[in-house]
This record gives sequence, structure tokens and C-alpha cells, in this order.
Amino acid sequence: MTIKDRISEKFSALFSGHGAIYMSAGRINLIGEHTDYNGGFVFPGAIDKGIWVEMKPNGGKSARVYSLDYGEYAEFGMDEKDKPSSSWARYVFGVCREIIKRGYDVCGFDAVFSGDVPLGAGLSSSAALESAFGFGLNDMFSLGIPGFELALIGQATEHNYCGVNCGIMDQFASIFGKAGNLMRLDCMTLEYEYYPFAPEGYRLVLLDSVVKHELVGSPYNRRRESCERVAEKLGRKFLRGASMSDLEAVRADISEEDYKRARYVIGEEKRVMTVCDALQKGDYETVGRMMYETHRGMRDDYEVSCEELDFLNNLALDCGVTGSRIMGGGFGGCTINLVREGVYHDFIDKATVSFASRYGHAPKVYDVVISDGARRIG
Ligand code: ADP
Ligand code: MG
Repeated sequence: MTIKDRISEKFSALFSGHGAIYMSAGRINLIGEHTDYNGGFVFPGAIDKGIWVEMKPNGGKSARVYSLDYGEYAEFGMDEKDKPSSSWARYVFGVCREIIKRGYDVCGFDAVFSGDVPLGAGLSSSAALESAFGFGLNDMFSLGIPGFELALIGQATEHNYCGVNCGIMDQFASIFGKAGNLMRLDCMTLEYEYYPFAPEGYRLVLLDSVVKHELVGSPYNRRRESCERVAEKLGRKFLRGASMSDLEAVRADISEEDYKRARYVIGEEKRVMTVCDALQKGDYETVGRMMYETHRGMRDDYEVSCEELDFLNNLALDCGVTGSRIMGGGFGGCTINLVREGVYHDFIDKATVSFASRYGHAPKVYDVVISDGARRIG
């Protein structure tokens, strides 16, 4: 049974009749890592894994929501004091509250939802959840909220109701995703552009190392501070737009560490531009080369890789995988791999066996296809 069928069955069993069905997606990021806080670009796309929700107005003032995956039910009012206790319900409540705070009316509704985005694997199940409800409530109550505001509502939900200080990329990709396209999002201006991504003869696959290294201190903040120091030396607000020769000109005045961090960020902006050109030409070999370069930059200059991710990256290289790199902030999580059909099975088999024999567990394998973002499907 599909997820859609399962939520429908549960909906009619719990509530009477049927409602409208919406789906919103998780996301990948092809390239552009640690660029958001430098005013740079990210390159996400929505995937074929997401959250499905069936919902219907109930004529009252409360939300009655059932999470099929947790097997839990929550009922809550729409006022700040009605915040539910379970963490999944806070996402739904947060979306309602953020919509209301912006001056729209959310009346009572019934909902059943379920999904297939792995939780906490870096594919943003939380954004899929926020976007499914945000998009659904907007459509069901004819609120007329523009797509971009829906993304901001999802982001504000994370900030204000879930304690996650995230950027806008995940919600943005989940709302605006389009099959066969990635989006280059400018984190400085929030402008975006679609780029064709239909790599025939290739697959996109994520290998989840299932490790997350706890680090002493605050490695993300330290890197951010390095970038800010160099930007200031260059008389800029952000490293975005700086060139390698700008960086060389101040090299004597900055620490070796700051130099390396900035070299990665400036290089990453160039790689994103190279990927844009390559995608327009359908040149996936160049895209793949840039992914490997990003991995090397994250490993050697930005120093956010770890042994397990380097192991998976080296394995990809040995197997003739077209492109491979860390996806996400680093220190664990997934690699994203662009793989020719012909080497796919060999790569997955080798990765599974050799990773397991070295680290005691197999990586998780997630095949993804770039797909549409939030939409009504029934
Ligand atoms: P991710 O990186 O996948 O976004 P998060 O920790 O940000 O991981 O979000 C995961 C949380 O989102 C879960 O703990 C849960 O509260 C909620 N969530 C995601 N998917 C589902 C689902 N299918 N059903 C219920 N809650 C979900
Ligand atoms: Mg999340």
C-alpha cells in the first residue's frame, strides 16, 4: 500500500469521510556547502521522499492530528498557550501559529500524516513536514499566502517552536522544488533560478555513514568567525564575491587557518558557477569533478570532514563514481554521489561491505530522484 493509501485509510477510520491530500518533499543539496552564512549560493532540489498529509476542516477551533509513523494523536488549540508536548506535534502547531502571527486565520482541522524521509539523515524531514502542513493549510483555507512566505513560516517554526536555528534552504527547496530541476538560491538576496537536472544514465545516491561526531568547542562558530575576519579585512560584509587574488593580497595579514577557510569559501563560489554552466550543457562529468573538489576543500581547507566520510569518498573515487562529496555541515552524516548506472551496483556493494568491515555497521543507502516540491495530490 502506498503512503497516500495508508493515510487515507487511517483518515476515514479516525474521522469521517475524506479530505484533501498534500505532499511535500525532503531535499538534497548538490553543491554549495558552508556558503549560506557567507552570503553565497546553495544548490538544492526536492526529492521523491516526503511527507503526505490528508486534512479537512472540522468546523471547530482545534487541530486533531494523527502521526501514522509514531502512532500518536495530538489535539491542540491555536493559541500560544496550547503548545503540545510531543515534538512532532510542535512542528504542526508551530506552522499554525506562524500563519496566525502573520494575520491569517487557521480554523480547526483534522489531519493524518506519514512520510518516508529518513529522520535526521540530512534530507530535511522537518522541512517536508512544515511545508506539507503550510502548503495544505494555505490551500484548504484559501489563505493566499505566497510560496516564499510559506518557506519563511517553516523556517520560523523551527526557530520558535523546535529550537533549531536553521537557514531558509530546506523549506525553500521543499516548497519550490520542481522535477528535473535544481535551484540555485542566492543566500544574500534570496533570489533563485532553476537549472535543468536530468542526468540520464546516472543515479543520485546518498550514503549515510550513520555517524555524528561530537566535537569539543564550537567548530561551526569558529569557522564562521574565520570567514567574518577575512571578509572584514577585505572590506566586505561577506566573503561572497571576493576573488582568490583579493585573498592573496591580504594573506600576510591573516592567520594560516583563516586563509584556508576563506580559500575554501571562495573556491566553493567558483565551483557553484562552474556547475551552473555544466548543467546548462548537460555536462555531468564536470558537475562530478566539482563535487570531488568540494569534498577536498571541506576536508583539507575547511576541515569539516571525518574519517568515515573520507573513506566513502575514496571508495567512490576507486569505483569510478562520477561525483562524490560530503553533504551538509560535515563531521558525519551523508555523502552525495552522482553515479553512472554501469558502476552503481559495484559501488553500493563495495561501499556496504568494506565500510561495514571497517566501522562495524553498513552505511544506509538512499536513492533519490529530483522531484516536485509541495503540491496537492488528491
Ligand atoms: P531532519 O534532518 O530529517 O530534518 P530534524 O531533527 O530536523 O531532522 O527533524 C526530525 C523531526 O521532524 C522528528 O523528530 C519529528 O519530530 C519530525 N518528523 C519528521 N518526519 C516525520 C514523520 N514522518 N512523522 C512524524 N514526525 C516527523
Ligand atoms: Mg530538520
